[in-house]
Amino acid sequence: EPNGDFFDIAGTLTERQRDIQRRVRHFMETEVAPIANEYWSRDEFPKQLIPKFQELNLIREIYDETGSRREDASVVEGIVTMEMARVDVSTATFFGVHSGLALVSIALGGSEEQKREWIPKILDMSVIGAFGLTEPDVGSAAAGGLTTTCRREGDTWILDGQKKWIGNATFADFVVIWARDVDDDQVKGFILRTDNPAYHVEKIQGKVALRMVENGLITLRGCRVPESDRLQQANNFRLTADVLRATRAGVAWQGVGCAMGAYEKSLKYAQTRDQFGKKIANFQLVQNLLVHMLANVTAMQTMCLRLSQLQDAGQMRDEHASLAKVYTAATCRATVALAREVHGGNGILLEHHVIRFFMDTEAIYSYEGTNEINTLVVGRAITGFSAFV
Ligand code: FAD
Repeated sequence: EPNGDFFDIAGTLTERQRDIQRRVRHFMETEVAPIANEYWSRDEFPKQLIPKFQELNLIREIYDETGSRREDASVVEGIVTMEMARVDVSTATFFGVHSGLALVSIALGGSEEQKREWIPKILDMSVIGAFGLTEPDVGSAAAGGLTTTCRREGDTWILDGQKKWIGNATFADFVVIWARDVDDDQVKGFILRTDNPAYHVEKIQGKVALRMVENGLITLRGCRVPESDRLQQANNFRLTADVLRATRAGVAWQGVGCAMGAYEKSLKYAQTRDQFGKKIANFQLVQNLLVHMLANVTAMQTMCLRLSQLQDAGQMRDEHASLAKVYTAATCRATVALAREVHGGNGILLEHHVIRFFMDTEAIYSYEGTNEINTLVVGRAITGFSAFV
């Protein structure tokens, strides 16, 4: 079998981490690989996977019952994400939105009581979460520009506005909504329960990347949320930025897994496809494509492993995560294009999988900070000049 772990990243892991890796790989190959193309085509998330995710009990390998990260959380999260994206990026995104963005918002922004109420259920996946920051007209500029508002009336907050692109929002049990307080102009976070009568969501149609993730356009008009569901520690955008920083390494790992899966499929294809009376793997030009892909995958893996080690050591800065995200998203994009090339015409058929990787990369490229925004984060750190505005 082709092995996209050329420098033996697995060999750097502890026995527990390797066991987690094997469990995720088995799950992805037996439960997700057989249905990924079908659900991708249907533009639908396979909800029957949720009980199977519950059995895997993966999030507890990353967080404890209070929502604190375990000492090797980032490495574990990275390996889990890589293994998921290696088979299907949508699955990694579904998992990342719930166990990363939604969980971390409550872990960092919630009171002790809120954490006690929500974290165990999030760990169990008996409730599914989503994260609502982006708006139809506000993407990269979320820090200063949110137009969704919250207004306090006694013990109730009134939320008004729209949130676009919100992964899992069509079936989630709660969505963390970030809104600007009309009184103090600060961004606050809310645990919005989706059984709220004023919660309105439409599935975004016509997506050609990550089709197995359901992204929602949420509209809130006079949506009333009790003060007890306002994230008590989230009093300005700094907290929102902390959440994004904590989850960015995970997104970098998505690019690693996606490129790794595309490389492995390509090597296998080259070793089985005959042209001119030979396996195409005999041709120098094809070998060049494969080696280029492998070099990309290996560079991404080693970069992200070190990033996660820094995160686990409490030393990861914004610019570290941003550099890895910029590099892996762009390198993944280049790598999946080579995979599609190795496959010739079959490269655009879903049954050969690589076109799904090719398309899904486009989502990785834009979310959790676009290429430009993460470049500016690194640029600011190394030069001392902010070039955002
Ligand atoms: P824009 O901000 O409009 O950017 C357009 C272009 O302008 C980009 O190339 C950008 O880099 C560039 N640009 C913008 N500002 C600058 C600048 N100062 N300097 C240089 N270039 C600049 N959001 C959520 O809140 N929750 C989710 O669950 C979620 N899931 C997503 C899933 C998918 C599949 C996608 C595609 C997006 C998702 N998002 C989600 C939104 C995502 O985070 C945004 O798409 C992203 O932040 C970019 O914002 P934008 O799309 O509005 O692009």
